[in-house]
Amino acid sequence: MKFGEVTPVPVDPELLAILVCPACRNPLVERVVGEGIEWPAAEGLSCTACRRFYPVRDGIPVLLVEEARVLP
Ligand SMILES: [Zn+2]
Repeated sequence: MKFGEVTPVPVDPELLAILVCPACRNPLVERVVGEGIEWPAAEGLSCTACRRFYPVRDGIPVLLVEEARVLP
């Protein structure tokens, strides 16, 4: 892997199943950049209710409201 290259790491499905949005407690869905998301994270988890998008770094979801971006 070249330096600076971003390789998406899939989130463990069992982990994803128990994760909820820290802001509104609704389920999260997996999304990747390229679906209208402009953000320096290759992959993230999106909240279906409040549209916050949380980055996934090295397969670890960063579920912090401060780190989230609200999608348009
Ligand atoms: Zn939410």
